[in-house]
Amino acid sequence: MATTAAEEQQLLLPPPSEPAPAVIRDQLEYEEAFDDEEEDANSESEASRGESPLAEAAQETTGLTSANASTNVLARVVHTLLHLKRRHRLRRVVRQLSRLLKHAKVWECVHFSHLPAWMQDNEFLHRWHRPPLPSFSACFKSIFRVHTETGNIWTHLLGCLAFIGVATYFLTRPSIEVDMQEKLVFAAFFAGAILCLGMSFAFHTVSCHSEFVGKLFSKLDYCGIAFLIMGSFVPWVYYGFYCEFLPKVIYLTVTLVLGLCAITVSLWDKFGEPAYRPLRAGLFIGFGLSGVIPALHYLCTEGWVKAATETAMGSLVLMGALYISGALLYAWRVPERFFPGKCDVWFHSHQLFHVLVIAAAFVHYRGISEMAVYRLTNGVCSV
Ligand SMILES: [Zn+2]
Repeated sequence: MATTAAEEQQLLLPPPSEPAPAVIRDQLEYEEAFDDEEEDANSESEASRGESPLAEAAQETTGLTSANASTNVLARVVHTLLHLKRRHRLRRVVRQLSRLLKHAKVWECVHFSHLPAWMQDNEFLHRWHRPPLPSFSACFKSIFRVHTETGNIWTHLLGCLAFIGVATYFLTRPSIEVDMQEKLVFAAFFAGAILCLGMSFAFHTVSCHSEFVGKLFSKLDYCGIAFLIMGSFVPWVYYGFYCEFLPKVIYLTVTLVLGLCAITVSLWDKFGEPAYRPLRAGLFIGFGLSGVIPALHYLCTEGWVKAATETAMGSLVLMGALYISGALLYAWRVPERFFPGKCDVWFHSHQLFHVLVIAAAFVHYRGISEMAVYRLTNGVCSV
């Protein structure tokens, strides 16, 4: 049967504002039935084999005698196939993006009250806490985000890198400049400082990973403080009692024993709990202050003048003051105690404690360097 001009006109493509013809709507519904990649692939292959409703409709319509009608239907087929391809491409992009977002694990800072119990450490810091991030890569990426731990992480990361730099410079001096014995004595101090700052950096970075990882690294963090104190004693006792073998051995042995005791206590499970914060501060202040005994010993036997010139007593006192004030700020949680919610990101007690620890470690480095220079230029032991 011949087709009239009106019928031919109806076969022309409608303008974009008009609803899609039934055959295209059928095709779109057909497409939406496929969500995963396999089905997409099937859909594509079916379309290419001419098994889809669109292809059937095209076959029926191409049976019409009018050449115009055939051209229009073919145009619609091509148009819909291109549309189909674009939709597939778009779906692939959306899938790819959602995979990327999944990997990036986008997270937002949370309020203290939304933290799980094992992460609730300081109630005076209200907002800007990281949520639990049970992936090491997410924890390390969080270094570059702003939250309550950002300052803690960066202070000890930069401090650790600074000490690695100083230690590398010092230990690679030619032996004509610094001999092996001096290098070993200083290496004990560098090792203590680098371990302390490095373990602290690691703890603050992964403390939000999980309860197990948080507790494990908090123990390593406390062990690091013990290593720093032990490492700080070694050069001071070595140069302070340079010509006296017995006191030197006794004080170094006592330091080692006290350090091992501090490490043992640090490994105790309950030691890391918030309730034991004053005990932690007390233990490390006590360990640090045990250095007063060899200092008093030196003062009594050698006098103030020698102590000031030969043992850099000024640096020692300044170092002690910095460590103790840092530990007290940490224990009392000052200043956030007086400004709850105002020091969430910057200037809270733990951050100040970190800065004071680095300052104290550098003051000590300066002090032991002065002692070494004095001993190496004037210190000939009388037999
Ligand atoms: Zn810390």
